[in-house]
Amino acid sequence: MRRPPMANMLPPLATIGIIGGGQLGRMTAMAAARLGYRSHIFAPEPDSPAFQVASAHSIADYEDEIALARFAEQVDVVTFEFENISAEALAILAAHRPVRPGPNVLRISQDRLLEKTFLNNADVQTAPWRAITSLDDLTHAIAKLGLPAVLKTTRLGYDGKGQFLLRSPADAATAFAQLNPKPLILEGFVDFAAEGSVLVARGPAGATSVFDMVENRHRDHILDLTLAPAPFAPETRAAAQAMALRIAEQIDLVGLLAVEFFIDRNGSVIANEIAPRPHNSGHWTLDACPVSQFEMQVRAVAGLPLPPARRHADAVMKNLIGPDDMALWPTILATDGLIPHHYGKRENRPGRKLGHVTMLFPRNALPGEFGIAAALGPLGTPPEP
Ligand code: AMP
Repeated sequence: MRRPPMANMLPPLATIGIIGGGQLGRMTAMAAARLGYRSHIFAPEPDSPAFQVASAHSIADYEDEIALARFAEQVDVVTFEFENISAEALAILAAHRPVRPGPNVLRISQDRLLEKTFLNNADVQTAPWRAITSLDDLTHAIAKLGLPAVLKTTRLGYDGKGQFLLRSPADAATAFAQLNPKPLILEGFVDFAAEGSVLVARGPAGATSVFDMVENRHRDHILDLTLAPAPFAPETRAAAQAMALRIAEQIDLVGLLAVEFFIDRNGSVIANEIAPRPHNSGHWTLDACPVSQFEMQVRAVAGLPLPPARRHADAVMKNLIGPDDMALWPTILATDGLIPHHYGKRENRPGRKLGHVTMLFPRNALPGEFGIAAALGPLGTPPEP
């Protein structure tokens, strides 16, 4: 009988160390537990939702070197749900245990300039861009890229934070004053028809697995709906998956990585950013795939086989954003067809992601706008006629 190779596989009961204690860490820990692993969460917030489902946790600042070293010594491999930790913190972790994805992947994904440079070198199209260090740079870049354009901080921006949309040359001084002294990047405005994303996993020996491309619809800069698969042309979806695989290989990924894309009016795929961790746009995989994004990440970082990222159903995922959506929780639980996920967060602040619901449909039978709104029941906002 042929035995699967066990060398380099993390054995059951080993401990996966997860940096970050939010819902992504929580769902990673739940997937890890299903494969027989323990999770140890490292996060600064004492009531982190991931603590509730993990066997151990450390409460400390992401830059606390002593706490990071102690944490690393107690785990077998380190992975992330929150990737914005410093190069110094990464070096401490990496000195003790394998860090997956590796420090170089995080270094690139943390900095929009390194990220754009890497993507362009990997033959992945992005919005045209220029590095900005002065108001003079900005004026010249506007002349080159045209308007509108988006001025962004190179680091620590998410959900539209740290961004300024420039509509006229007169906006330059205000935008620069608002975001300066942080390092900045100007991006040409992409007049996109839709936004999408692809998740790719890669194991330590180079095996890969790529999920279907999905469409992401935002409300107030926060992900609202994900449609799986994306209702785009097959060539568009295939091109995005091929790019995600190329990125995974060229960045030498071990773990899971999300690539966010714009789809322009010709169906061309333009990469916006990468995130080397599970992603909100992959939550549908928990209910519509035999192996979810979280299990895929655990398998990749633990050196387990990576099965194909198959989906057995089409799906729509809707985020539950505080406090309005969560006020509907009892109704959601009573609505047939909504698969509920609660993140166990105590605080119900506006704009906070508190949970999500998934709806499943037969393969290749994703309904249109009105069908989705109807299926969402109490959560559905009918589209404008
Ligand atoms: P980001 O923080 O880069 O993910 O951007 C947040 C959102 O801002 C994106 O999902 C887009 O809706 C919008 N956005 C960012 N960059 C651009 C761009 N270059 N052109 C048009 N829209 C953009």
